[in-house]
Amino acid sequence: MFTPAEILEIKSLLIPQNKIVIITHYNPDGDAIGSSLGLKHYLQAKGIHAEVVVPNDFPKFLKWMPDAKKSIIAEYKRKVAFDILNEADVIFCLDFNSPSRIGILGDWLVKSKAKKILIDHHQQPEQFDFVYSDTIIPATCQMIYHFIEAMNGEDLVNKDIAECLYTGIMTDTGGFRFRSTSATTHRIVANLIEKGADPSVITSNTWDTNTVSRLHLLALILGRIEVVNDGKVAVLYLTRKELQEYGFQKGDTEGFVNYGLSIVGVKMSAFFMEDLYDDFIKISFRSKDDVDVNQFSRKYFSGGGHINAAGGKSLESLMDTLETFKNRVAEEQL
Ligand code: 5GP
Ligand code: MN
Repeated sequence: MFTPAEILEIKSLLIPQNKIVIITHYNPDGDAIGSSLGLKHYLQAKGIHAEVVVPNDFPKFLKWMPDAKKSIIAEYKRKVAFDILNEADVIFCLDFNSPSRIGILGDWLVKSKAKKILIDHHQQPEQFDFVYSDTIIPATCQMIYHFIEAMNGEDLVNKDIAECLYTGIMTDTGGFRFRSTSATTHRIVANLIEKGADPSVITSNTWDTNTVSRLHLLALILGRIEVVNDGKVAVLYLTRKELQEYGFQKGDTEGFVNYGLSIVGVKMSAFFMEDLYDDFIKISFRSKDDVDVNQFSRKYFSGGGHINAAGGKSLESLMDTLETFKNRVAEEQL
């Protein structure tokens, strides 16, 4: 958590006269959108307006969250987004650890004179004016709750805040399953339910949203899932042509990589997908126990993330990338 002195300083910055902006990472997920909107609603409850700016669009299954549709999407409204960041006095940086993770917003953030406040749970955060980084906490949404506690603001937590924070904790813990899900996480979730977050409604809004295209894509990749390295590594992939044929929409492949990890004996799962427009391969890694995919992705695939969940990219062709990957995991003796 921030030190008491930092909290005092942050309190002095959070005044209606200051322009407050909240930004989050490229391809925002449930935790990114949930933490941004949860913080926005908390500030609102304190009588302070904040703008949420995201680098690019996010899936429909996150747009039900209160005020989600008021977020400024920089890829569509470049000038508006630039002006907001340029004029900001305070920029909250949520759920990312480096300006390189926020696409087009990265340069603007670095050049901005605003005070930059990082709240994030990824490994190896870079320099910001105020840093609250904790890689043990499963979701940035949980950290926003701790921040609200440190601000003595728990009484202000309302239904909007509760719904947003619940969503991010639920998605980043894979439904309260992943390793860093703690008793504290559950206590906070219990508080959020008391404040108005409805687990069944949120689960249904966020997860019972399969499209036919998503299920067809899932059937396709499950049909050819490959297990290498003595059954320890699962490999899944999709080509651009397949994405086009099946009418891929943003968010359709969310969670696919987890199916690899559900196979008995598998310690690491990797999902490779050709980008729909640009010539690169987006990779998702998931792992169990002490298999560190953050390090692996940093070392070989220009990426990073958490020990058990990370992302990366490759500029080689899809088939070459798969080959390279299999060689690397063999070398690392995973
Ligand atoms: P996902 O596989 O869901 O895209 O990402 C898993 C985790 O790794 C998320 O916490 C995400 O923020 C992080 N991540 C995804 N892609 C990248 C990347 O290219 N670089 C870094 N540093 N982190 C990433
Ligand atoms: Mn997160």
